[in-house]
Formats: sequence, structure tokens, C-alpha cells
Amino acid sequence: MVGDVEVDVLVVGAGPVGVSLGALLAQAGVTALVIDKEADIYPLPRAAHVDHEIMRIFQAIGVADEVAASSRTPNRYDFLNADGEVLLRFEGADRLGPGGWSGGNMIHQPSIEMSLRKAAMQLPDFRLKTSCTWVSSEEHGDTVVSRVRGADGEQSVRSCFVVGCDGARSPVREAASIELDDLQFDEPWLVIDTLVRDAERLPKINLQICDPARPTTCVLMGSGRHRWEFMLKPGETAEQMLDDQVIAGLLSPWNVEGAINLERKAVYRFNAKVAKAWRKGRTLLAGDAAHLMPPFAGQGLCSGLRDAANLAWKLAAIKRGANDSLLDTYQLEREPHIRAIIGTAIMMGRTVCITDPAAARVRDQQMLAARAATGAAPHAPANPPMAAGCIMGGPPAGAYFPQFVSGAASSQRFDDALGAGAWLIARTAVATVAGGPRGFALADIRLDPYRDQLLRWLDKHAVEAVLVRPDRYIFGAGEPHKLLAAWATQLK
Ligand SMILES: Cc1cc2nc3c(=O)[nH]c(=O)nc-3n(C[C@H](O)[C@H](O)[C@H](O)COP(=O)(O)OP(=O)(O)OC[C@H]3O[C@@H](n4cnc5c(N)ncnc54)[C@H](O)[C@@H]3O)c2cc1C
Repeated sequence: MVGDVEVDVLVVGAGPVGVSLGALLAQAGVTALVIDKEADIYPLPRAAHVDHEIMRIFQAIGVADEVAASSRTPNRYDFLNADGEVLLRFEGADRLGPGGWSGGNMIHQPSIEMSLRKAAMQLPDFRLKTSCTWVSSEEHGDTVVSRVRGADGEQSVRSCFVVGCDGARSPVREAASIELDDLQFDEPWLVIDTLVRDAERLPKINLQICDPARPTTCVLMGSGRHRWEFMLKPGETAEQMLDDQVIAGLLSPWNVEGAINLERKAVYRFNAKVAKAWRKGRTLLAGDAAHLMPPFAGQGLCSGLRDAANLAWKLAAIKRGANDSLLDTYQLEREPHIRAIIGTAIMMGRTVCITDPAAARVRDQQMLAARAATGAAPHAPANPPMAAGCIMGGPPAGAYFPQFVSGAASSQRFDDALGAGAWLIARTAVATVAGGPRGFALADIRLDPYRDQLLRWLDKHAVEAVLVRPDRYIFGAGEPHKLLAAWATQLK
């Protein structure tokens, strides 16, 4: 045993969720040790898309500009049938979403993970230990004693909480005997990532080809890369499909020979599962450890990062004296959101993964008729606002508070002006106390570029003030003193 380590939070797993959680904790003055059994970042691309809300979390961590510089923002996501007719079309992902960034951002996950690690390592309260495997945790009163194994032998880590961000197989979840609710989606797909040599010959939008002969996905990634995914048919094995000749055959209808080079290939099973408990005592789960979904909505990583943003401020509040029952609001708030998103991802998956030609014809007829009837492009289904948890009253409490933008090319952002933590934004000045939400009156000079937008928001909801949580969800709106009193009660 090589010495003990003491830290506020031990984060198991330095994937994107674990590192983001560690960074957000450290920014809030919570010491975080993030460990990973691997020496390096997982090198193979997985996520190709993050939404505006995730870019806002990246902004808080300080990596959004870097991510935006290498991401691409296609304006369409089309579901086509075998004849090339549009069954479903989502438009506008290139426009600003409520988070103040483009609605859809096509990315390269390992590059983002590298940026996150670099930013987190600048924070004095963040520590990363790689080649270090979590072995076990035991609770002793208000301390968790964990055993971890690194190249230098076994060590014990004493922390107030342990968060398993340790991926789909999550040893932390297993050890806590937390079961998964299986939402019955299980389809094998071949994923092919390519390096682009001639972008002009590649599609400029994201595509789902709903061809029963071979359901196929073709999407942009971060600049310089493009992805194809092909569903395996009954009887096909991963080994057969990973053969380069087979891959060349699958790509031939796209006429991209010479325009791309194969970077990697892998067969995944796309599943949908939710952990039945996200907290057990002082152990919590986040990211893929807590939920899995097929990638058709591009939301697995996004959901994990929302977990991190939700957990980070609650753990920081507990360090400052809030009761740890605040953590019971974590699953309460996040699970309905996750289940709605998984529902969308499964709906998209079931639309694409039809291999019976007769069933595909019926689907095509129904979807073409629905599209002809409405004419309009559907919006991606809205995520439900929180109906319960650490919020005060009904709507707009629990909804997402937008990030206002201003300036040339929307380059000034509200969060940068106001900074981290909870905000009380009121029409007129309100006295706040140290350690509570920071107060901003509309006359505040920092709000100059956003005053009109803010005023419109307050007028629309006919309220005097809004209290925004550190994860940018609305705690409540109304009379400022009542908001501050309710916040103090919930966080005591
Ligand atoms: C083909 C594909 C496409 C996808 N597309 C998208 C998309 O477009 N958009 C999107 O939002 N999501 C997408 N996803 C999902 C996304 O990639 C995952 O949700 C995300 O990577 C999960 O991050 P995580 O940090 O929770 O887990 P991981 O990235 O899996 O990290 C878990 C970490 O825990 C470590 N670990 C495990 N056990 C231990 C232990 N005992 N001790 C120490 N460390 C341990 C592992 O080494 C690993 O580094 C896609 C996934 C796939 C497979």
C-alpha cells in the first residue's frame, strides 16, 4: 500500500463525463481525483455529435471555442427511403440553440477529450491518475474508503463521495449491485470512420438511409472526418463485416473511393438501458454507467455531460454545508429527461432498422403521407423540463434557462458576463448574501448587451426575477425575496 489520499470526490473513469465532472467540481472548489484504468484516452471515435447545451457546458469548462473551431454544423438531418424519398427531415441544427451555440455540432470525441483533460489539469483542485484501476469502495460513516491499484501498487483513497463514470460495464455499478432496466433495443452495427481527402465528394448533411436491404447511417464528424454505419443483417458476424473487401463493397454505392481513407472500423451493439438507482449511499453513477442509448439521436455523451453539470453543483453545495439529501434530486431530475431522450433515439432506431421489405413499404407510405399532410419540418422533440427536484413551484421552474448572445457573429455570451454559480436576476437590485446566488439587477452594466433579451424573458413570464441554478436550469421565477428564501431552505 503506498500512502493514503484524501479528496472530496473520487471520480472513477476519465472518459469525457468523468473529466468534465472533475473539472466542474474543481472549478467550484471541490477537490476531485479522477482515475482511469487506461494509460491514455480511448483513441477510437464514438460520439460524433453534441448539442448547444453541451457546448455551453464546454464553455463553462473553457474548451468551447476550441471544440467549435474543429466541429462542423450541417443544417439538415434526413431520413431517406431506399428510393431516396425524404421520410423525415430535421432542419436548423446550424442555427443557435437555447444554449447559445449551434443546435448540432459534429465532433471528434478523442480530440474533445484531449481538450477537456488539458483544461482540467490547469485547475489546482483537479487531479488525474491514469493506469489506475478502481478495485472497491466501503462506506465508513460520512467517508468512503476506496482501494485503487496503479503501477506503484495499491492505494486507499478517502473521499466524501465516489462517482462511477466508468462506462457501460461500470464496475462501480456492479459492485453496488445496481441493476439495469433493459429497454429492449439491441441491434449490431458496423461503424466506419474515415479521414477525408476530398470533402467535395461527400454528403454535406447527415443521413439515415432507411433501406431494408441495408439500413445505413452517413454523418459528418469533426473537420477532416466522415462516418458511415451499416446495420448487420441476421447471420452476418462481426468478423465478416470487418473485412476490408466487405467494407469496400458497402461503401461502393457512395462512390467515395479515393475521397476517403479508412481510419477505423468496429462493430457495436446498440442498446438502451437505464440504471435502476443512480445513487446508493455515497456512491453515484453518471454517463454511460447510468444509461445507454442507441446513437441515432446523438445524445449518449450529451446526456452524460448533463449528469455531470447536475451533480457538480450539488456536490459543491454539500461541501459548503447543504444536506446530502440534495443528491436525491439527481435521479429525480435527470431520469425523466434520459427516458424521453432514449425514447426518441429508439423511435429513430426503429424507423431505420427495418429489414423486412413489406414492413418498410408500410413505414414509407405512412411517413410520406404524414410529411405530405403537415408539410413542415419537424423539430427534434423538446426535452421535458424538470417537474420535480431542486426547483421552486411550477413552470418556468425546471425549464432550461437560455444563454443570450450578442455582438458580431454572436460572439458575446451571457454566461461569460455573469460567471459561474447560481444567479438571481431581478428587474431591480436585491441584496444577496455571501455564499448564496449572486444578484444582478437589470441596470447592471455587465448586462448591457443582453438587457433587451432579458427584459423580454422576464416580461414573457410576467415575473420580477428569476433564480438560475449553476447548471442553468431555472430554480424558480417570481418575487426575488421568496426565491432567495426557498433556495436557502432547499440548500441548508
Ligand atoms: C458508435 C457510437 C456513436 C456514438 N455517437 C454519439 C453521438 O453522436 N453523440 C453522443 O452524445 N454520444 C454518442 N455516443 C455515446 C458516447 O460515445 C458515450 O455516451 C460516451 O463516450 C460515454 O462517456 P463516459 O465518460 O460516460 O464513458 P466512457 O467514455 O466509456 O469512459 C469510461 C471510462 O472508465 C474507465 N474505467 C472503467 N472501469 C474502470 C476501473 N475499474 N477503474 C478505473 N477506470 C475505469 C474506462 O477506461 C473509460 O476510460 C456514441 C457511442 C458509440 C459507440
